[in-house]
Amino acid sequence: MSGFRALLVQKDEGGYRVEDKQLDDAALMEGDVTLRVTHSSINYKDGLAITGKAPVVRKFPMIPGIDMAGIVEKSTNPDYQPGDAVVLTGKGVGEVHYGAYAGKARVNGDWLVPLPAGLTAARAMAVGTAGFTAMQCVIALERHGLKPADGPVVVTGAAGGVGSVAVAVLAKLGWHVIASTGRPQEAGYLTSLGAAEIIERTELSGTPRALGRERFAAGVDTVGSTTLANVLSMIKWGGGVAACGLAGGMDLPTSVAPFILRNVALLGVDSVGCPRALRLEVWRRVAQDLDMAKLDALTSTIAFDDIIPTASAIVEGKLRGRFVVKM
Ligand code: NDP
Repeated sequence: MSGFRALLVQKDEGGYRVEDKQLDDAALMEGDVTLRVTHSSINYKDGLAITGKAPVVRKFPMIPGIDMAGIVEKSTNPDYQPGDAVVLTGKGVGEVHYGAYAGKARVNGDWLVPLPAGLTAARAMAVGTAGFTAMQCVIALERHGLKPADGPVVVTGAAGGVGSVAVAVLAKLGWHVIASTGRPQEAGYLTSLGAAEIIERTELSGTPRALGRERFAAGVDTVGSTTLANVLSMIKWGGGVAACGLAGGMDLPTSVAPFILRNVALLGVDSVGCPRALRLEVWRRVAQDLDMAKLDALTSTIAFDDIIPTASAIVEGKLRGRFVVKM
């Protein structure tokens, strides 16, 4: 029986805390595939799980970490053999099933996808849930029939993980990308990813009007609340917004006006429960439509010891881009 290091979130009479533990295989949860975790990432959601600022962890104790890439060690699942390189995002790992911040994981093989062709494990984790969700948003806009010729696309929370990847992908696909950020000092960074215009977050965060000037054909929103309401009010007739985030709040103070007077579509995006066929399509599109040089430029690599401080900083909105954990 071989031991491995793991972070364990506890919640009991001692309060909410994260412990750095040594565990062995017997501690792992049910599953038909055991893997050696080689890389993970830090998402906003991981920050919430580690700080306890929102109830992401729903079962205790829990190993947090919603993204993992690794090598199969043992498998009774016919689709996976020892030595296979695999990736897992979402599916409740790090929330209700032991997650990525550990040397090993045992999971349900149906949750895995083979490491996508064209990506290394490190780059797959640089994409992670955030980049996956960004690509899912782009696909949602496309499936609604939207295309670069329709007009500009706005990306909110643009310097964050989802936002950064969305900017890079949309720019590569030929969209005129308007990046909304609360950090004007990141303008150079966003321009390097392909943003054509940068706007100040406050332009979209005031009290929303039912309808505003038609500024955007499409939107990718990671902020929610008044920001999403403002974006909806500024979408051109027939446009749409892919909404995936709540960095600014869970509420949505809008009216039916954009929907019934401008035919605007609000396209919900959830990466956690994303079905397998779409999951494979999203990864295929990531490998095809995300410029790897830009991905590398927006990625920082950290060690296991850095997980807790990085998770705290992401919740405080102090970080930009994506963080890969080299296990
Ligand atoms: P990050 O923390 O990396 O990025 C969030 C960005 O939002 C920040 O960088 C900042 O961008 C902006 N922001 C933060 N706080 C506020 C605020 N109070 N008002 C307005 N803007 C703010 O997080 P991720 O990119 O990983 O995730 C973004 C959102 O998407 C989160 O809410 C997350 O929970 C959600 N998400 C949802 C998924 C799904 O499946 N639906 C999957 C992945 C993420 P800037 O500095 O540029 O203004």
